[in-house]
Amino acid sequence: MVHFVGAGPGAPDLITRRGARLLEEAQCVIYAGSLVNPALLALTREGAAIYNSAHMTLEQVLAVMEEQDRLGHDTVRLHTGDPCLYGAIREQMDALDKLGIAWDDTPGVSSFCAAAASAGEEYTLPGVSQTVIITRMAGRTPVPAGQDIASLAAHGATMVIFLSAGLLDGLQEELLKGAYDAETPAALVYKASWPEEKVVRCPLGRLAQTGRDQGIDRTALVLVGPFLARSYDRSLLYDPGFATGYREASR
Ligand code: SAH
Repeated sequence: MVHFVGAGPGAPDLITRRGARLLEEAQCVIYAGSLVNPALLALTREGAAIYNSAHMTLEQVLAVMEEQDRLGHDTVRLHTGDPCLYGAIREQMDALDKLGIAWDDTPGVSSFCAAAASAGEEYTLPGVSQTVIITRMAGRTPVPAGQDIASLAAHGATMVIFLSAGLLDGLQEELLKGAYDAETPAALVYKASWPEEKVVRCPLGRLAQTGRDQGIDRTALVLVGPFLARSYDRSLLYDPGFATGYREASR
């Protein structure tokens, strides 16, 4: 059987207990390169076969999974954060189905959640943003029509941009075509939850320059939106005047 497991954002104690158990038990682990903290591999059992998928094609990954399954072994496919975001798991799951190999998926803490925690922020502030747009810049991997940064930025909502720290000049330009302006707050979160983590804030108009100044060009998320200004309405849910199914209004 193949277990897809979310490794979490980096800190080895941010993997789930289920993920850690599967990692401890598997005879084979295929991990997603440098984004997975090597400390997690210390959990694997002695003699486990360990592969770094950064050096492998999809066909090679599948060949290892097939061979291990034939031996009656379990493989953990360890992806960073949560496998459902930019994990290229669909193609693996579909190929495993065709091969008749059973699989399951254990979620993990995505880096977009770790980045909010590191920055001490809430993405969904009442009266400011109730929407989080998770996306990436088109680079060597294109994005489908209608999902370009400028179109998504037209909402003025909270944006979390993956896989784009090496494209900050273009990203800044595209974001400024939307509802944000040069003073809209932005942040770069580098390696959230790793010892070398950095959280750097700047106005959107200085995003690319800030990336250069800080030497950040990979393994970072770009956060943009008025939520970073921390000016908001208080929540209705916890307002004394607001009745809910669990609490009477007290004034
Ligand atoms: N599935 C992963 C994302 C994989 S794509 C998740 O849920 O987080 C790889 C990109 O994720 C990186 O280029 C970077 O933009 C982001 N990323 C992954 N780990 C990160 C971390 N600890 N801190 C900041 N960004 C991270």
